[in-house]
Amino acid sequence: MGSLGTVEIGGTKTLVAAGIHPDDLYDASRIETTTPEETLTAVVARLRGVDIDAIGVAAFGPVELRHGHPDYGQITTTPKKGWQSADIVSFLSRELDVPVGFDTDVNGAALGEGRWGAARGLNQFVYVTVGTGIGGGAVIDGSPLHGWVHPELGHLIVQRHPDDDYSGRCPFHGDCLEGMVSGPAIEDRFGVSAPDLVESQLATALTLVTSYLAQGLRNITYALAPQRIIVGGGVAKLPGFFDCLRDALIEQLAGYPGLHEHGDVSFVSPPGLGDRAGLAGGLVLAELAVG
Ligand code: ZN
Repeated sequence: MGSLGTVEIGGTKTLVAAGIHPDDLYDASRIETTTPEETLTAVVARLRGVDIDAIGVAAFGPVELRHGHPDYGQITTTPKKGWQSADIVSFLSRELDVPVGFDTDVNGAALGEGRWGAARGLNQFVYVTVGTGIGGGAVIDGSPLHGWVHPELGHLIVQRHPDDDYSGRCPFHGDCLEGMVSGPAIEDRFGVSAPDLVESQLATALTLVTSYLAQGLRNITYALAPQRIIVGGGVAKLPGFFDCLRDALIEQLAGYPGLHEHGDVSFVSPPGLGDRAGLAGGLVLAELAVG
């Protein structure tokens, strides 16, 4: 197989590269995510003339993933202005004339981690990102989980922490997991963005964030029986995040159902590929598009 194009479309930036392995992707281009037309035209300009067999796109959602559906390959009900019904797959396949693989950014990241990162050799695993929003992708028996739609793991129900009176900021559910733990929810509570938290504010934020996330991970653990849950995103880079999260999850699981694999919750880990997981996932999606 020749080279593959990989594209990660995020809410604020879009990354584009070509290669066959995450280690090849050192020359990734970064494009500001503006309007769909401007952004996708810049993606095409980066890849035109590069000898590629296919492209894989990992995009923010929600997206339509049902092959044969009239809206397949589009972003659907996003609140991001101008991106409702953005037809990504049609645009790129028309302009570049190669097969286009497509999935959510988090299903893509999960596939990348499965091939080269922290879930290598496993069949059931989940990738959760905690940043501006919370997203989760799942790979089951080696394939990304799709039904009517991809999983929406940011919108799980969580119980309120007794010391927390924040109302939550999910526009649909208020105090769902994303409503309580996303970067903007942290900024609402503390008046500074997550990376700027220090000392007692940092300690309080870590306690709250990890107590909610541990509830979310407990739900995921019991619902999907993953062999690995990878947690990425900006909030997961807070100092001490994983120690706090593991302690809170051990408390949440309370020794049930008694697997020694759950004992120290070492099945929860940071991404093996760091910030390259999405672009790595694009490579896997491109391979799948070739068949
Ligand atoms: Zn919600």
